[in-house]
Amino acid sequence: MKIFYRPEQVASNTAAYSPSAYKPKQVMDDWQAQGLLDVIDIESFEPVSRADFKRVHNPQMVDDVLDLKRRNGFRNVDAEVAASLPYTSGSLLAAARWALAHRANTCSPTSGFHHAGYDEPEGYCTFNGLMVTAVKLLDEGRAQRIAILDCDVHYGNGTDDIIARLGLQDRIIHHSMGQHFETREQAGAEGIHFEAWLAKALTECAAADLVLYQAGADPHMDDPLGGVLTEGEMFGRDVAVFRAFRRKALVWNLAGGYQRDTDGSIEPVLRLHRNTLVAWMSVSTHQS
Ligand SMILES: [Zn+2]
Repeated sequence: MKIFYRPEQVASNTAAYSPSAYKPKQVMDDWQAQGLLDVIDIESFEPVSRADFKRVHNPQMVDDVLDLKRRNGFRNVDAEVAASLPYTSGSLLAAARWALAHRANTCSPTSGFHHAGYDEPEGYCTFNGLMVTAVKLLDEGRAQRIAILDCDVHYGNGTDDIIARLGLQDRIIHHSMGQHFETREQAGAEGIHFEAWLAKALTECAAADLVLYQAGADPHMDDPLGGVLTEGEMFGRDVAVFRAFRRKALVWNLAGGYQRDTDGSIEPVLRLHRNTLVAWMSVSTHQS
């Protein structure tokens, strides 16, 4: 099992409400401390280029953000955040290349992609690494269809915006949990059950050569921006996804999560990401 991580994908940016800039390091430290990395290889990778970002975003916006002339998705001009961006997308792209080459599952410990639209950073997301990765692999002919299965609790509006701008509706299958389940009330009003939604999405994603799975922590009941699923339901979600695509190219990442302990630590979020890793390990090592 492999995880595509290097320290350059992390920015301290601790003043932000969203921990996503510094979360990869905390997640990796947590998994290390729990002994979960003993059977995992940490793989290095190359950052993506400005041209890769410009393929899916307004080129002027890309230059302005990276040159610190315009605010990023955290609404600041932090140089460390800008420096980390080619590495967060680079982690996802390298993981996806490996997954395609080996028809296997892997992990990119990254967040902060799906609200970034063609022209604008938004909601703690500066550049849309999901779309950087998907479009690069389609351009290279490594995949004909790619699925983005987004189980962050918020709607992946930036992803849909870029798909529409680039006319990729036929080549990118996009299922965003947040379109239906952003709140418990919305889910109730629409009369949809999460398990039924997920089962349908899994069936439709099976038509793709590669699945990018956002295993968001923010659907959790106690998340201040979520409040939809229990910890057990989230574990069941992860197991269902990993079982469905066990012999297929799949990359999972972290996506959102905003709970804090009373001491300000993100332990409740780390716990949910740890559960996803455990679900992945249990499905991967179970031979049937
Ligand atoms: Zn979210």
